[in-house]
Amino acid sequence: MQNIVIVGASLAGTRAAETLRSGGFTGTITMVGAETHMPYDRPPLSKNYLAGDWDEERVALRKPEVLEELHLTWKLGVAATSLDTTAQSVTLADGATIAYDGLIIATGGDVRRLPNQPNIKGVHTLRTLDDATALRNEITEGTRVVVIGAGFIGLEAAATAKKRGADITVLEGLEAPLIRAIGAEMGAAIGAVHERNGVNVRCGVQVASIDGDATVTGVTLTNGETIPADVVIVGIGVSPATTWLEGSGLTLRDGVVCNANLNAGPQTVFVAGDVLRWPNGLFADVEADMRVEHWTNAAEQGAVAATNLLAALNGTEQAPYEAVPFFWSDQFDARIQCLGRPSSNARVDVVAGNPADGKWCSIYSVNDRLTAVLGVSQPKLVMPSRTLLSTHTLREDALAHFARVTAPPPPAA
Ligand SMILES: Cc1cc2nc3c(=O)[nH]c(=O)nc-3n(C[C@H](O)[C@H](O)[C@H](O)COP(=O)(O)OP(=O)(O)OC[C@H]3O[C@@H](n4cnc5c(N)ncnc54)[C@H](O)[C@@H]3O)c2cc1C
Repeated sequence: MQNIVIVGASLAGTRAAETLRSGGFTGTITMVGAETHMPYDRPPLSKNYLAGDWDEERVALRKPEVLEELHLTWKLGVAATSLDTTAQSVTLADGATIAYDGLIIATGGDVRRLPNQPNIKGVHTLRTLDDATALRNEITEGTRVVVIGAGFIGLEAAATAKKRGADITVLEGLEAPLIRAIGAEMGAAIGAVHERNGVNVRCGVQVASIDGDATVTGVTLTNGETIPADVVIVGIGVSPATTWLEGSGLTLRDGVVCNANLNAGPQTVFVAGDVLRWPNGLFADVEADMRVEHWTNAAEQGAVAATNLLAALNGTEQAPYEAVPFFWSDQFDARIQCLGRPSSNARVDVVAGNPADGKWCSIYSVNDRLTAVLGVSQPKLVMPSRTLLSTHTLREDALAHFARVTAPPPPAA
């Protein structure tokens, strides 16, 4: 009887456990999770759950009876604190040590905090279900909300809080929202969607302090201006949750560095989800390795890590994880979808619609090679372009493709 330990009881970890069972593994699977909750889905936390439309039961990743059938051993509410790959064991915060024959690391990301971020009422981050519950309890009609950081999570929270009647200011240090994610031009167009919906988006401003004694009162900028606030949401991104792996011998570089099969070095240690950095064969010509913070990738990687772990245990062949990354985001009535890697240094061409109207499709290319397709409320154009991205299509061929598929039908004879 073998033991597999999965550290991180969320999306990638759950998909790994399901795949181990469907792949025939009958030994013990121990799920170690720092949070007390059974696995839940994060995307609704800034959308339907924050809006108050969904309850806790609805954000559960799986129904309790589905999880029961997997016969997992749960260690929830206790973080892993260290890994010994020689002894093949994981130590937990309660002092327990769990031996493993195979290990899957799926610890995701920890929210970043501002250096001087005070721990007072009204100041929030948004990563966990507990974060979302605390935040939604404080947002009502007329609440003055300041969002620090115009990334996807901050902007989604801004849109949801606005729809609940709050008064929203978004502060961004760079010259446009979402620059690191999708570049300045497209980021500015998403910022304009927010402005049209009554959000005050202020870019190129630096936060000096979050103010208040027991309760937040406002945010002061480096120019001396203070913006009054009842609620402040700090949305400045996440760091891969690798602190517990320091000293383990695994290679840590903005994530756990793995090979193409998601193996971390020791034969039976695999990694999946937001914490993973791996060489994605489909984009090897533009990025040596990548770390992706998207739902679909975490789910797929959980399954691949588990399949390859079983192959390692059984001495059979492993397969690389090669994929076109995908994410979506919902902000007001804009449904953003993106396939590929929309880097801020890429050349951007609008191939359909008009960013000024809040409905468009644009393509990204690096060295004349198509690297991403971004659509705002253009599902019919984005999703079918996966093959273009997985086959190293040239920019000019991609432009010709979109010219063809967006051409008006010929007039009836
Ligand atoms: C508010 C929000 C909205 C999002 N919306 C979208 C969206 O619209 N579209 C999209 O594509 N993606 C979205 N995402 C991203 C998506 O949810 C993540 O990519 C996905 O959750 C990653 O899954 P994961 O299993 O790798 O990591 P996580 O979901 O972060 O889970 C990691 C788990 O490991 C636990 N853990 C960490 N350290 C330890 C430790 N030392 N010991 C034990 N347990 C530990 C954590 O507590 C956590 O439960 C959103 C994320 C958030 C937070």
